[in-house]
Amino acid sequence: MSLLTSVASRWYNRLNETTLVAGLLIVVGYVLIEILFQDWQSKFLLQIHPASAAIAVVAVLYGALGFHTLVKRVSTLAGLISYGFLTASVGTLVYTTGGLESQYLLFWGVVILFSGMFGWTILSLTWALTHVYIVLLLFGVVGAAPETGRLLTYVLAIELPFAVSFFLWYGQEGDQSAVSTLSAAGSADISQGIVVSSIAESVVVVDEQGRIQVFNPAASQTSGWSEGDSRGIDYRNVLSFVDEKGQPILAENDPIAKVFATAQTVADNDIRMRTRNKKLVELSLVASPIISADGAVSDVVCVFRDVSEERIQERQRAEFISTASHEMRTPVAAIEGYLALALNEGVSKIDSKAREYLTKAHQSTQHLGRLFQDLLTAAKTEDGRLEFHTQVVEVGAFLDQLAEDVRFAAQKKGLMMEYQSGNSELGNAVAGAQVVRPLYYAHIDPERVREVITNLFDNAIKYTAEGKLVVSLDGDDSNIVISVADTGPGISQDDIPHLFQKFYRVDNTETRQIGGTGLGLFIARKIIEKSGGKIWVESQVGRGSTFFISLPRLRPDQAEAIKKKEALNETPLAHVTGNVEI
Ligand code: ADP
Repeated sequence: MSLLTSVASRWYNRLNETTLVAGLLIVVGYVLIEILFQDWQSKFLLQIHPASAAIAVVAVLYGALGFHTLVKRVSTLAGLISYGFLTASVGTLVYTTGGLESQYLLFWGVVILFSGMFGWTILSLTWALTHVYIVLLLFGVVGAAPETGRLLTYVLAIELPFAVSFFLWYGQEGDQSAVSTLSAAGSADISQGIVVSSIAESVVVVDEQGRIQVFNPAASQTSGWSEGDSRGIDYRNVLSFVDEKGQPILAENDPIAKVFATAQTVADNDIRMRTRNKKLVELSLVASPIISADGAVSDVVCVFRDVSEERIQERQRAEFISTASHEMRTPVAAIEGYLALALNEGVSKIDSKAREYLTKAHQSTQHLGRLFQDLLTAAKTEDGRLEFHTQVVEVGAFLDQLAEDVRFAAQKKGLMMEYQSGNSELGNAVAGAQVVRPLYYAHIDPERVREVITNLFDNAIKYTAEGKLVVSLDGDDSNIVISVADTGPGISQDDIPHLFQKFYRVDNTETRQIGGTGLGLFIARKIIEKSGGKIWVESQVGRGSTFFISLPRLRPDQAEAIKKKEALNETPLAHVTGNVEI
């Protein structure tokens, strides 16, 4: 179907161009031979009749103006009218200049070629009309009968285009009626073509062989490649995707190849492309599969947008925020320090009223300090400046320690705290005095992940008035799941999709009074995503919330291999001397 429709859309336009050219030739021929240079008439035995010139004028007007308006709405009809004008202008030209004797007879061959495009009816009609005319000629009904020898040539000149037209349009896809499919599909395809070429997003369609089938004007603008130069070419020669360092991306990271391999939609907001003029542009890209009837990926539709300008602005904004918050942190820290000194009974003497005010000022300054710190971290996560020192971590031991560290804060607020360390799986188990649990290895920055879990824990304490908190660890072969559950107010389903966005705070009576920046969960999401994991929440209003973090799990042998590799990188001489035990 894709082949047929693209053929149809191309041929409707070609038909109209042919009608235009034929019409113009007839009009120009008429003006030159009949009006301006009447001497030429002697050279051109067969002169152009005013009737064909008149029809040609209307055909040219339609081809130049009417067709383009009509084709957007009723494309098949627009094509048919084009064909009608071609038939009428060429038909009268041939008829009035001697029929089979006409030196313009070749033009009729062109009309016949296009006849098959509209299906059986038009093809047969053109064939029948032509042959009725030939039979009438043979019997001398219309004009003089041609000589038998020449007649044969003429019949061949006419029969041949009919045969070509038949095979061109009918023989395209097995014995199925391609002609009708073509004319039906053609109209849809043309309107789709118009949509694709008018949208501002770059659209590229790549077929199974990796060849570009559709390349819209926006794609030309972004890549610097013209549609003509890129159609039919392997997409890798046109869309040169590169990584952050400007190096060609690995084949396994190629979004189009990924879609062919997985039949899943792939979105990539970090990909870059080198244009034909060697310029580097940052893209936001989505590639989706077109699945054929047999379930295989027949084509990939790749839609992308140049976001270089937006990225520059984002970086400038983030830089401004990080510089501002960095600069403001210092005076705020000083104010906080002095307020702490003022509140310290060993250092200063103040009355109870002043203590009350200064305590409030101290709390607000602490909040401001936290806000600046969060702003700084948020800005760094966005522009990629947040540093990650990854290492192999056994998450079980890591969380045991962390749970102990936060337990005190929960107890201070009168909340019970439970820690469940996953033992749902017994493979790779280590036997301790109290617990038997698997080893959960992950390649993460422990400090960053600690920040995230502490933040979830602080939130759980902050928003829970009474009840208990449960921290747990579980997982399967490929993932480690850490969860922090509370018996707090819960979060409504309307708020959940926005919870991990910047500055989002739930606005309800229970939580409004509780201070916060709305940045904690945003930063948490960025850190976890950067660690290759996911963060999400399940919650019921009035019952409590459970925040989950999943991190990619390493097999013990993978963990061991990474540890060795990292140790070698840290001590470059180690593998040379071969003396270092890891
Ligand atoms: P902050 O807590 O500083 O406002 P966060 O990004 O950490 O910012 O949290 C965003 C919002 O999510 C909070 O304002 C709060 O409304 C809601 N929230 C987070 N954790 C919980 C929780 N455990 N229970 C109920 N609401 C929560």
